[in-house]
Amino acid sequence: MATAASSTHAPAAVFEAHGLGKTYRMGEVSVVALREVDLVLREGEFVVLLGPSGSGKSTLLNILGGLDVPSTGSLRYRDHDLAHAGDAELTRYRREHVGFVFQFYNLLPSLTAYENVALVAGIARDPMPPAEALARVGLAARSGHYPSQMSGGEQQRVAIARAIAKRPDVLLCDEPTGALDAATGVRVLDVLETVNRELGTTTLVITHNADIARMAHRSLHMTDGRIAREAVNEARVPALSLSW
Ligand code: ADP
Repeated sequence: MATAASSTHAPAAVFEAHGLGKTYRMGEVSVVALREVDLVLREGEFVVLLGPSGSGKSTLLNILGGLDVPSTGSLRYRDHDLAHAGDAELTRYRREHVGFVFQFYNLLPSLTAYENVALVAGIARDPMPPAEALARVGLAARSGHYPSQMSGGEQQRVAIARAIAKRPDVLLCDEPTGALDAATGVRVLDVLETVNRELGTTTLVITHNADIARMAHRSLHMTDGRIAREAVNEARVPALSLSW
């Protein structure tokens, strides 16, 4: 039987990082991109990562997503040690567990929306049918359209459908609204919010826009390679109510 104490336990940690550091070396020059980052992301959380350009946001997201490895510190994704994983293990980790959404949608121009989603679903173990993924982002009616026939916001929603079609445990989004106007960006954020709520996908969104933090459970503010500040939202603002 659940006790009062156990029922108030926080959800399980998906990521746990301690003392994470990243230094890029280019010949004689080295750039410190992350310094002593401690971070826990929990199941089902929607977290926004803010900070000025060059503060280390993309570096952190890339390391969490297994696109890069830290120079120092420890990083666990559930029971995987990502800090010391080799290339093959990182590739498998990304393929099985991570969905990525970037600023530019990177859809294949010669394939329809449906085919772009099906391509990724085809290499997943338990994929969502492409039609369901497109319906979840509000594009059921556009599945036969090519990227050139869609607006930027629609293309980004196809990219989200592609990312969620493999039912990832985590969704990592690097400036997903960076190339969109405010009204279109809000629709994209609404889709991310719905995916997070309905599928329980732990979601991390990088943005320059502090207003977007109001839709998150929690926001992290990076400065000079560190998480300088963290804020928990007692009351979240739905994406469609955001304005900027
Ligand atoms: P943000 O996403 O907040 O703009 P980044 O994580 O992209 O910040 O970059 C953090 C710092 O690391 C910056 O000084 C950037 O120039 C540097 N950096 C990022 N990627 C590389 C790389 N591949 N090689 C060298 N330096 C890099």
